[in-house]
Amino acid sequence: MKRTKISEIWAPELIGTDVCVKGWVRTRRGNKHVQFVALNDGSTIKNLQIVFDMEKFSDEDLKPITTGASIHVEGKLVESQGKGQTAEVQAETLEIYGTADPETYPLQKKGHTLEFLREKAHLRPRTNTFGAVLRIRHTLAYAIHKFFNDRGFFYLNTPLITSSDCEGAGAMFQVTTLDLNDIPKNEEGKVDYSQDFFGKPASLTVSGQLEGELGATALGAIYTFGPTFRAENSNTPRHLSEFWMIEPEVAFNDNMELAEDFIKYCVSYALEHAADDIEFLAKMYDEDLVERLKSVVNTEFVRLTYTEGVKILEESGHKFEFPVYWGADLQSEHERFLVEEHFKRPVILTDYPKEIKAFYMKQNEDGKTVRAMDVLFPKIGEIIGGSEREESYEKLSQRIEELNIPMKDMWWYLDTRRFGTVPHSGFGLGFERLVLFVTGMTNIRDVIAFPRTPGNCEF
Ligand code: ATP
Ligand code: MN
Repeated sequence: MKRTKISEIWAPELIGTDVCVKGWVRTRRGNKHVQFVALNDGSTIKNLQIVFDMEKFSDEDLKPITTGASIHVEGKLVESQGKGQTAEVQAETLEIYGTADPETYPLQKKGHTLEFLREKAHLRPRTNTFGAVLRIRHTLAYAIHKFFNDRGFFYLNTPLITSSDCEGAGAMFQVTTLDLNDIPKNEEGKVDYSQDFFGKPASLTVSGQLEGELGATALGAIYTFGPTFRAENSNTPRHLSEFWMIEPEVAFNDNMELAEDFIKYCVSYALEHAADDIEFLAKMYDEDLVERLKSVVNTEFVRLTYTEGVKILEESGHKFEFPVYWGADLQSEHERFLVEEHFKRPVILTDYPKEIKAFYMKQNEDGKTVRAMDVLFPKIGEIIGGSEREESYEKLSQRIEELNIPMKDMWWYLDTRRFGTVPHSGFGLGFERLVLFVTGMTNIRDVIAFPRTPGNCEF
């Protein structure tokens, strides 16, 4: 018999028919006359109740059915008497695929902390919480592709291995095939990279932006959506060493409007298409979640310059851990103060001092600031970082010189400004920060299946 997924089983026309379901047992309870099994197959947060009439089955048959066991059941789907359930299966046949010894299976009924589950990342997708998070994550990924596709953006895959060490977004992981126990040296006693795989030093990318600009200045509008690597030793609830980033890059465009539309679209898509999972997480962890998500969709983001933002922070009288003054790189406590305390809605902060932003950002007339744009969110702080790009060849190369950036391998990037240069802009959204926001989880390690952080590369 063809298997029906539990997500599909609630269709009214299936009531009264014979069905085949397969999945993992969440719980079993009951008495000597009847036993109830809550079955989950990962397709939905909702468990399906399987009813075993103990006149048809023996205790011996059901003994292997413990939490975590995998089974195949066929039987009739009937309307359920139980509260909150619409249908249940009256089991006729039972096949056990695999048992899960209660003595050693780590996921027993309930009450595991998120910290405990991080140690069991290979099994935690089977919990309600991580099932919900991973389904929401998928829904958001789909929404992102749909948003851009519907607006005529092209999905560009930029390289993960790069030989430029000036992407400017943070410390990089080196990629090499040299024998680290026997490193070839040149005459100066330095590592002889001519013998390395690419004939020069290479690293994992911290951003696809520079290549994204090549795409945007040809196709008009592109986006990337891929893994990104940062070797910073930041052990915070918002940083991963390996994370996914979405980077749209567009010629002739309003960046801020795109960023705001984009986030609102993703959040409302999730509210509509992952409602069960969001409601589950709200009930378990964060009762304001749905309210917060709706409010982001329905309010206009504040647009404010960095200079104005710093003034508000300075005049707030609030005690911050890190000092705030014009020129300071804002910390997440500052960002969250503006969003959560002062404006009570998302903020797009613009025109940052050039010293704290990357070399490629468009320089303002004032000579002090650049056309940067960060989107700041409640609970998260910075969720998007972006800017208009400097399109003038002269200004860009001057800035590169000022900053002593090693550009010898980047002649191709400067060529975009030498040939048919255009005003263009883009931004990077950290996918996990979006998933954090939408799920209401508070630690970024809990919104990616297998997190990589300093000292942690298990699974
Ligand atoms: P932060 O100041 O929070 O460390 P950043 O300014 O270094 O971030 P950008 O280089 O602007 O980050 O990257 C664009 C986006 O990528 C950020 O707005 C954020 O959403 C996300 N991001 C950056 N670093 C990380 C990280 N280590 N883990 C997860 N997401 C990240
Ligand atoms: Mn940033």
